[in-house]
Amino acid sequence: QFYNRDLEVQIMEEQTIENHLHHAIERKEFRLMYQPIVNGERGTIEAYEALLRWNHPAHINLGVQQMIQIAEQNGQILEIGKWVLEEACRQNQQWRKTLQKPDLVICVNVSALQFEQRTFTKTIRETLKKTGLPGHCLELEITERIAMTGMEEKLEKMKELKEMGVKMSIDDFGTGYSSLAYFTRYPIDTLKIDKSFINKMVEDQGAETIVNTIINMAHSMEMKAVAEGVETREQMEYLLSKKCDFLQGYYLSKPLEAESVDGSLKD
Ligand code: C2E
Ligand code: CA
Ligand code: CA
Ligand code: CA
Repeated sequence: QFYNRDLEVQIMEEQTIENHLHHAIERKEFRLMYQPIVNGERGTIEAYEALLRWNHPAHINLGVQQMIQIAEQNGQILEIGKWVLEEACRQNQQWRKTLQKPDLVICVNVSALQFEQRTFTKTIRETLKKTGLPGHCLELEITERIAMTGMEEKLEKMKELKEMGVKMSIDDFGTGYSSLAYFTRYPIDTLKIDKSFINKMVEDQGAETIVNTIINMAHSMEMKAVAEGVETREQMEYLLSKKCDFLQGYYLSKPLEAESVDGSLKD
């Protein structure tokens, strides 16, 4: 599958993809899917992660990660990211009302380029205002890569976001090279353990140790730990025994279309 994808990308060429991406928003080719994030102790859905999908006109199945990589290189991610943010907030505001879940959180992936924009906090403020979503119902997922450079400026932004009530998580935690010192200074709420560790955890002692360490580290810094990519009952039970706060993965639920979320929450 990977070979096919790479080949497709080559054939289409980045330029062609760029040209298509350029019209993707106005042509309404993007949509979001939503994956439940489950409270380990209570078994309840407390958040959804919004995941971008692109219905390419020629039905070329370009992986979302490859598409985002191209959009990051040419800056298109800024416009796309803005669309994602607004759509996710709008959708969550609707769910909060119709499903009477006032504290439902929407988690939105934010690319480094977006976060580094001078106007980033302004965009967040305006999106919350426009959609009516309270700040505490939005969580931004940033990667370790963001946390590394230009610390003072980023700290300012994060403090401003905190004042709006917006939560922050570090995505794919454990895969980067950041120093722990950064995380003690940043007002982070959640560490999301990368799925590569969850995947290997049961057989691989090293991965198991990393998972344990991240959970304990999160708790000692008064953060929550989320395990992503939970695919088996065994993994789930292990994580619960280690007091991992939240679980996300195919074993609990695959990403859902918005309409299916409506159904799943009504029960
Ligand atoms: P991520 O943020 O780490 O998201 C988790 C990915 O793991 C998603 O892939 C999800 O569908 C997948 N996943 C969930 N549960 C399982 C599981 O049990 N097993 C396995 N093998 N995979 C699982 P997806 O949707 O293809 O997204 C890939 C990546 O693309 C995301 O990784 C994120 O880095 C990026 N991405 C997706 N949507 C956005 C977006 O709106 N903005 C930005 N900047 N990046 C996005
Ligand atoms: Ca994520
Ligand atoms: Ca992740
Ligand atoms: Ca990832």
